Amino acid sequence: MTGLKPPPLRNDCFALPAGVDWTPVDTALAMLRDRLAPVTGVGTCPVPQALGRVLAADAVALRSSPPQANSAVDGYGFAGAVPEGAHVLPLHAGRAAAGVPFDGVLPAGRALRVLTGAALPDGVETVILEEDVTSGEGEIAFRGPLKRGANTRKAGEDVSEGAVVLPAGRRLTPADLALLSSVGIAEVVVRKTLRVAILSTGDELVEPGASAGPGQIHDANRPMLCALTTRLGYGVQDMGRVPDDRTALRATLDRAVQEADVILTSGGASAGDEDHVSALLREAGTIQHWRIALKPGRPLALGMWQGKPVFGLPGNPVAALVCALVFARPALAVLAGEGWTEPQGYDLPAAFEKRKKPGRREYLRARVRDGRVEVFPSEGSGRISGLSWAEGLVEIGDAACDIRPGDPVRFIPYGSFGL
Ligand code: AMP
Ligand code: MG
Repeated sequence: MTGLKPPPLRNDCFALPAGVDWTPVDTALAMLRDRLAPVTGVGTCPVPQALGRVLAADAVALRSSPPQANSAVDGYGFAGAVPEGAHVLPLHAGRAAAGVPFDGVLPAGRALRVLTGAALPDGVETVILEEDVTSGEGEIAFRGPLKRGANTRKAGEDVSEGAVVLPAGRRLTPADLALLSSVGIAEVVVRKTLRVAILSTGDELVEPGASAGPGQIHDANRPMLCALTTRLGYGVQDMGRVPDDRTALRATLDRAVQEADVILTSGGASAGDEDHVSALLREAGTIQHWRIALKPGRPLALGMWQGKPVFGLPGNPVAALVCALVFARPALAVLAGEGWTEPQGYDLPAAFEKRKKPGRREYLRARVRDGRVEVFPSEGSGRISGLSWAEGLVEIGDAACDIRPGDPVRFIPYGSFGL
């Protein structure tokens, strides 16, 4: 009998410790937003190769689009408007086609064959759709009314020369490549691709597929974080697994800063004996331990290693993914030269019940079926299968809640996070 008592059991092991401040998610995000800045260099890239690249300067139209007024349909062009009633116009010789302009001026009171995309010749202001015309020997007949300019596109109606078509910070989409091309831009000024070093920590980890002894588990975070990084459009430097050994971890971080702009680690980010990511960052004097009011999430260790930011994600794969999506994703975007972005969520009726106390935000693994948001039956943070079952996250605000089936909840599809 030593008189030593075990600590009392806690009903809610996530209860906020008395007298300790927990940072709300939005405050933590605002801090990241304020403190981070682009770290990548700038170069040029031909537009056809620029998918997924981040603009480093505004893209300015070199030419209006369309460059000249043209026909929106296949049909017949003439001057002015026509009133209500039947009309017959003599057909002029020749035609105007896309890329093959009509060389001349169409006299008033006559019609000319024009095709979609053809520059409007002098004397053509209005086009009647070919389906609305009967054509005879040298003339056409149709019914009005038709406004002046009907079925035509004005020069510059989409974009005028000199306009900013896409702002600096834009990550280029397939549609953007069409827009840039349409206004005569062949080359854009872009950021170099952000390089992200990724490593896992923990003595218990073995490589996926390797034989695992007692107490060992396969490294699940590294394939996930490497794939996430690739999906987000960044370059991956896979730094492998590191045992719970400070010297080995230091050496790996030293290598990582040579090869990458930012480092993502998982595991070892708490304040325990084997939490060497925290310990090393603390030693380097740069750690910020973020006690974020988030489930699943804690702990998150943010620090600098030789001038490069380190995101120490939790080891638990569910928490690692949620923290990566909620915190690392927008942070990496800023480092990569994109602006701050918030994932688009949608308010949809819940297909579940959920009660919680105030003070902490929660993200549940969720998907939408028949217009209602379902959540994974277990909130257990070790349930990796739930990450895979889910098609997004449902965000439950910091306040207390008592959600009943049918109540609106905020669903954020994985796609909104860029996955
Ligand atoms: P830690 O944050 O290092 O204390 O790890 C928390 C939990 O996550 C422990 O159960 C670890 O075994 C587990 N874990 C840590 N890293 C990984 C990983 N890369 N893959 C799968 N599980 C992990
Ligand atoms: Mg560990």
